Amino acid sequence: MHAAELIELKRNGDEIPAAELREFVAAYARDELPDYQAAALLMAIWFRGLSPGETFALTEAMVASGESVDLAAKLGRRVVDKHSTGGVGDKTTLALGPVVAACGAPFGKMSGRGLGHTGGTLDKLESIPGFRVELSTDELIDQVREIGLAVAGQSADLVPADRKLYALRDVTATIDEVSLIAASIMSKKIAGGASALVLDVKVGEGAFMQTLGEARRLAKVMRRLGQEAGLDVVCLLTGMEQPLGRAVGNALEVREARDTLSGGGPPDFRELVVVAATHLLALSDLGLDERAAQERVTTSLGDGSALAAYDRWIRAQGGDPDPALLPRAAVVLEVPSPAAGFVRELRAREIAAVAMALGAGRERKDAAIDHAVGIVCRAKRGERVERGEPLAEIHARDEAAAGAAALDLLGAYEIGEEPEPRPLVLDVIR
Ligand code: URA
Repeated sequence: MHAAELIELKRNGDEIPAAELREFVAAYARDELPDYQAAALLMAIWFRGLSPGETFALTEAMVASGESVDLAAKLGRRVVDKHSTGGVGDKTTLALGPVVAACGAPFGKMSGRGLGHTGGTLDKLESIPGFRVELSTDELIDQVREIGLAVAGQSADLVPADRKLYALRDVTATIDEVSLIAASIMSKKIAGGASALVLDVKVGEGAFMQTLGEARRLAKVMRRLGQEAGLDVVCLLTGMEQPLGRAVGNALEVREARDTLSGGGPPDFRELVVVAATHLLALSDLGLDERAAQERVTTSLGDGSALAAYDRWIRAQGGDPDPALLPRAAVVLEVPSPAAGFVRELRAREIAAVAMALGAGRERKDAAIDHAVGIVCRAKRGERVERGEPLAEIHARDEAAAGAAALDLLGAYEIGEEPEPRPLVLDVIR
C-alpha cells in the first residue's frame, strides 16, 4: 500500500480498493502513517465522497482497530441501543433506557461526552451525586444481566482509529461529510455489540444535518452499514430547530427526564421517548409488534415501572436518584416576554450558546463544566405567551452571568401573531 497513491486515487475521484483502504486505516491507527497523509486523504474524501463499498471498508477497518464486545452472545439475548447524532437538550437516553428496561428488553449503551454545542449523556449523568460512568466491559455486561440496563463511558479500547481520525477531522474541517460521519458512528455501534439500534438523526439549525435531504442520506448510509454488519437499524429523523424538551443544562435535564418517567415531562420529549422505545421494543426479542410495543411503553410511563427502573439503574452505578439532591444554581432568573403572541422561533444553536456561556458545556475537551446551570424554556414554539409572562428561566452561578444570559436568550426567541407548529418526527426509515 502506497499512501500517496491512495490519496491520489481519491483526489481524482476514483475508488480505493477495499483492502488498501483497510490497510491505510490500520496503519494510521498503529501510528505508522503521519497525520498529514491521513489529513490529505480525509480532505480528498470530503470533496469526492466514498462509494458504499469504500464506506463499509472504512467502517470495518475502524471496528478492527480495537476491541469489540458481543453483548448479545454474552447475555444470550438481543440487546438494543440507541444513538443520536447530537442535539440541544437531548436527554433521550436518560428516559429511554429505563423505559425499555422496564418493558423487558435489555439496554446496554456506551455513551460520549458533549462535543461542540451539544451536551453529552455522560456529563448529564455525572450531575447525579455518586454516579459512576467508568464501568469495565465486564461490569457493563453484569449490570445489564442483573437489572437490564447500563450506560457507561466508551472504553478507550473501542475503535481507537475513530478517536484518532475524529480528532484530525475536527482540526481539518472534515467533520461534515456523510460517509465519514456514518462510518464514525456505526463503527462504534457495531463494536459496542448491540443487536438492534434506533438512530435519531437530528435535522435543522441546531444539528449537523441542516436539511431533511442531507439527514435522509446520512440515515440511509448508516442503516446500510448496520445491515451489512448484521445490526437491525431504524432511523428516526427528528427536528432540531428548537431544543428538545424544555431543559438545557445537565442537572436540569436529569430532572426533566425523571419527571417524564413519572408520567409528566414536556410533550415533545415524551413523544420522542415513546416513539424511540416503541421501535426498540419491536426490534427486541420480545416478539411485540409496534402496536403492542407502544402500549407497553405508555403503560410503563403511567404505572411507575419506568421510574422504578431509573432508580434501580442510578443506584446500581453508585448514584442517588433522589432529584432533591441534584445540584442547584445559586441564581434563578425569569426572563419575561417582551410581547404577547405565539413563539415562532426558539433557535437551538443560540440557546446552546447561552447555556455554554453559563458554564453548562465545554469549549475544550478537558474543560470543567458546571452541572447546575442552564436554561428552562418555559415557552416553546407554537405556545402562547402574554407580555411580561416568563419565556424562560436562567439558572446561573451569579447575578452578572444571569443578566448577560437573559439578553442573549431574548435574541433566540421570536414572537409572532400566529402559531406555526412543526412536527417533531419528520420521517422514519426502516
Ligand atoms: N458523532 C460521531 O461519533 N462521529 C461523527 O463523525 C459525527 C458525530
